[in-house]
Amino acid sequence: MDVDNHAEDLASDLGVDKEEVKADLENLLEYSVPIDEAKQSVRRKHGGGSGGSSPTPDSVDLGEITTDHDSVTVTAVVLTVGTRTIRYQGDDITIREGELADETGTISYTAWTDFGFEPGDAVTIGNAGVREWDGKPELNLNDSSTVAMADETPDVDTEVGGDRSLVELEPGDRGRNVEVRVLEVESKTISGRDGETDIREGIVGDETGRLPFTDWDPREEVAEGSDLRIEDVYVREFRGVPSINLTEFSQVTPLSDPVTVKEDAPRLSVAEAVDTGGMFDVEVVGNVLEVRDGSGLIERCPDCGRVIQGGQCRSHGAVEGEDDLRVKAILDDGTDTLTVVLDDDLTAEVYGGGLDDALAAAQEAMDKDVVAADIRDELVGRAFRVRGNLSVDDYGANLDAETFEPASDDPADAAEAVLETLGGSGDAGGEAATDGGAPADADADADTDPDAAADAEVDR
Ligand SMILES: [Zn+2]
Repeated sequence: MDVDNHAEDLASDLGVDKEEVKADLENLLEYSVPIDEAKQSVRRKHGGGSGGSSPTPDSVDLGEITTDHDSVTVTAVVLTVGTRTIRYQGDDITIREGELADETGTISYTAWTDFGFEPGDAVTIGNAGVREWDGKPELNLNDSSTVAMADETPDVDTEVGGDRSLVELEPGDRGRNVEVRVLEVESKTISGRDGETDIREGIVGDETGRLPFTDWDPREEVAEGSDLRIEDVYVREFRGVPSINLTEFSQVTPLSDPVTVKEDAPRLSVAEAVDTGGMFDVEVVGNVLEVRDGSGLIERCPDCGRVIQGGQCRSHGAVEGEDDLRVKAILDDGTDTLTVVLDDDLTAEVYGGGLDDALAAAQEAMDKDVVAADIRDELVGRAFRVRGNLSVDDYGANLDAETFEPASDDPADAAEAVLETLGGSGDAGGEAATDGGAPADADADADTDPDAAADAEVDR
């Protein structure tokens, strides 16, 4: 379609002179404005809306919006407004994100300009673009969208505002408010996209759980032991678990009453834990079915910490490996399996000796595998209680153990009890050991997160 045809379409839509429309269009195209945007701009100039052939898109209930919609008009209550700055095509842009609700449902939105609405406002949004995000429709509010106070407030039964407990937070959440105690915090300097950047990171807790956080605009108030209300945080997935992010837009207010922090990790069946898609702090009990290859005495790349084989790192080629101790054990509680990963200290505990002992044993036997064999004898067929951080990805479920102790209770009974409290059937389907959580290969070995590195995030 050439400019002439576009102009003719527009002119007949808007009921104005074609030559005038064409001149406007050509003027915009000269400045390299994309044709669609140019048409929208000309429509606005002549008082038209911007959707397809009808000037204003139809009003639609939120529950009816699909990714097939181009643009819509909606009347909704603003549930949350989160603010953050993103880099878009080389520029820093401050965007607002959150959720809207009406009688029929909720939908996420991203606003590229500040329309000034706040949680609780009832608004009519004209010409909101619909885009697909994670397989679901989401509204995109830009310069060609309009926002007005709604004539009537939709009757919504969803809670307005971003207050959440830690256990309720999920990756992708925006504009959330939490009341927490800072359990651990440390300052760090990272090399980000703008060079060296000071950040603070640590762990916060409330009565429902604990989560890691990163403060990208380090604040003194975020100190160990402080009880804080933190408004406008966003949640992203970092190393498989939800992580709270404070930005320059987050507001931190000290609380006068101390926040109660849950001491225990939530105890779940393996199947339930794997189903969460990743948890920062969880406890499971199960039997060790198998100690995987790559356990015992291993070698790591000195540059990236990945476990190497035959002196070859996947990223760095031939390297002088550094000796280390590690265990990867498959744990089964009758509901599913996952891979428990023990670090050097926990491995030394189950092995009954440290790195030097392991090296000496390997040297004497002229075989590194004797270390793994000893560990296998200690673990396989026995029940253990494991608390740690669970990440779940395409390679399987990995539980990085913080504690690893012999369990006195029978894992099958324990799993059944957990299932019953969760309202499950208690029917533990006996799955094959390698089917469920166990990784298909050694990719989960990576001690650095390539995505996070690319994102200039912190490698923990
Ligand atoms: Zn490497």
